[in-house]
Amino acid sequence: MIYLDNAATTKVSAGALKTMTSCLEELCGNPSAVHTAGARSRQAMERARREAAAVIGAEEGEIFFTSGGTESDNWALISVFEARRDRGNHIVASAVEHHAVLRTCEYLKSRGAEITLVRPGEDGAIDPEDVRRAMRPGTILVSVMTANNETGVIQPVRAIADAAHDGGALFHTDAVQAFGHIPLSAEACGADLLSASSHKLNGPAGCGILYIRRGTAVRSLIHGGSQERSRRAGTENVAAIAGFGEAAREARLFMDQRGRAERALRDYLIREVEAAVPGAALVGSRENRLPNNACFLFPGTENQTVLIGLDMRGVAASGGAACSSGSLDPSHVLLAMGYTYEEAFSEIRLTLSHENTREEIDAAVKALAEVVRGIRERR
Ligand SMILES: *Cc1c(COP(=O)(O)O)cnc(C)c1O
Repeated sequence: MIYLDNAATTKVSAGALKTMTSCLEELCGNPSAVHTAGARSRQAMERARREAAAVIGAEEGEIFFTSGGTESDNWALISVFEARRDRGNHIVASAVEHHAVLRTCEYLKSRGAEITLVRPGEDGAIDPEDVRRAMRPGTILVSVMTANNETGVIQPVRAIADAAHDGGALFHTDAVQAFGHIPLSAEACGADLLSASSHKLNGPAGCGILYIRRGTAVRSLIHGGSQERSRRAGTENVAAIAGFGEAAREARLFMDQRGRAERALRDYLIREVEAAVPGAALVGSRENRLPNNACFLFPGTENQTVLIGLDMRGVAASGGAACSSGSLDPSHVLLAMGYTYEEAFSEIRLTLSHENTREEIDAAVKALAEVVRGIRERR
């Protein structure tokens, strides 16, 4: 199988798997326990916390483990809304956020929040000036992702953070697609809160972090024991956390190397698809995108049909976000960028890993060209 759906999830790395296996085999203590067995579990967790912090140049005390990107996004939005309720109820987010942010905004609306969604330009990028214009007295939070999961477009988060702070709001960024993939500093990007997820960088699913800048007042989302310095209750999944830590370490050490390999493959893929498939249109800017993302429209096709054809030829791709595949809704990201329903339904996203080869890309492009031609001929 040629796996080109790495924005949906990635394969657990050999190192992360080894770390997890040895945790499950050797560690039996509850990390909150006083005894040595507990201390050993605690050490494995704290090592992972150091590694996660190092990816974004944060302090260990600013990293809180969660069950993944979705929980981190929910926690950031819901807790800021609750903690800053006395200052206002207005939240600004972008219209191209992941559903973990957008649906949480919907939920908060039902709890009395007012939400403004800022639309991107045709290139998928949010204009920080539009965020500035959306600010008003009572704006308590701005949430804009670091990089988009469908188009790979990288957002100007620092300028957006400045706009948020100038208006007295906190800034949250969903960095799930960027964390461990492109250089990212919590300090430099201006985030007060930042979400990341283990399974998007070759760690196991069901584990993530919320970075909370020191001094930022937030409330707990999950109530119970005093784990995670009383901010996130529940006995920790030590093996998953340790596996995430190892994946984060590898991602940091090999970021440049992997990024270069992915970028070269991505540019090759884009050129080959444009040459082999008439009418293929790249979504988003050619340069300002994640190193592993190529997102196309293939006019005259419907992506569910293309995906089935690709799968029959051994190629795993996606029609946009994993959570909306299989649903009949077109991509909210492409609609927000100004594409029509028909265009949005023709979206195919190919996301690489550093392990993909040129031979795989050649085979995938050949399959794609055949499938698209076949569909167009039948119309
Ligand atoms: C995958 C993803 C999430 C959700 O993370 P999970 O760990 O799967 O819950 C949130 N935001 C973005 C941008 C993502 O790509």
